Amino acid sequence: MSTIPSITLNNGSRIPQLGFGVWQVSDDGAEAAVRTAIEAGYRSIDTAAIYENEAGTGRAVATAGVPREELYVTTKLWNSGTLDWSGAQGQDAVLRAFDDSLAKLGLDYVDLYLIHWPRPMHGTFGNVWKAFEKLAADGRAKAVGVSNFGTAQLDALRQESDLVPVLNQVELHPHFPQTELRAYHAEHGIATEAWSPLGQGKELLAEPALVKIAEKHGRTVAQVVLRWHLQSGVIAIPKSVTPSRIKENLDVAGFELDAEDMAAIAGSETGERLGPDPQGFDWN
Ligand code: NDP
Repeated sequence: MSTIPSITLNNGSRIPQLGFGVWQVSDDGAEAAVRTAIEAGYRSIDTAAIYENEAGTGRAVATAGVPREELYVTTKLWNSGTLDWSGAQGQDAVLRAFDDSLAKLGLDYVDLYLIHWPRPMHGTFGNVWKAFEKLAADGRAKAVGVSNFGTAQLDALRQESDLVPVLNQVELHPHFPQTELRAYHAEHGIATEAWSPLGQGKELLAEPALVKIAEKHGRTVAQVVLRWHLQSGVIAIPKSVTPSRIKENLDVAGFELDAEDMAAIAGSETGERLGPDPQGFDWN
């Protein structure tokens, strides 16, 4: 077993601070990668309806030889543009989408269900969130949260419902550390989960300041970056289909970044996103 720390969410449940993401992995590829990840010691898996690999993820979960209750499965609602999500039909559409995800995963509950994108140009999510309230009340989603929400959407949601999202999953890595959003989350009891925590394995991992810190600790840059997430109180869900990297990314205990390291990593901020800005992102 690994020694992954966990974080207590605002509904009292706990989530491993390090999980495993499967975006841009085929269905069969996800089955293989998730199985390798669970064997390596990961206990939290992040998929989404739009990744089209919930079935493969579910097959790995079913056959990994680890009891279901020891695993933490997250999936996400793909709020496509063909529906009026803020209107009355939004609720039924959410419940149908959720049922479809559960069926593909082969599960009778998920640990966490997220609204994938806010699409703020189409209004707020109060009505969709009512369906999330129902899923949480029924225990079919043990926890509910959001992804790619900004403070304006979080404010709107808080005005429309007493159910505060347990977390907000957003792009976050040393180049784009989301300092202001994290402060908002901390103020409102919302945990922060980082997508693309390794900066998608691109320039970030060759950053000279980070290479220096990695050499100092006898670790890889990826391990230093994941250690930074953990020490920052952020939940990280690195993706890899490479067995050696899957193991490497989990092996982040046994060393500590000091204040000098943390300051040097903070200094690598560029303010540049890898993904789209959710405030303007739509796909219609
Ligand atoms: P990551 O930051 O996790 O980087 C993944 C890339 O880095 C892959 O190309 C991988 O290569 C490479 N890599 C992984 N480990 C190492 C390592 N130790 N050394 C060198 N390279 C490495 O990017 P993702 O965008 O995949 O984000 C992680 C997860 O976040 C996604 O899989 C998904 O679950 C979630 N996500 C959510 C979004 C949302 O809108 N909510 C948006 C984007 C992602 P290889 O696989 O070839 O080993």
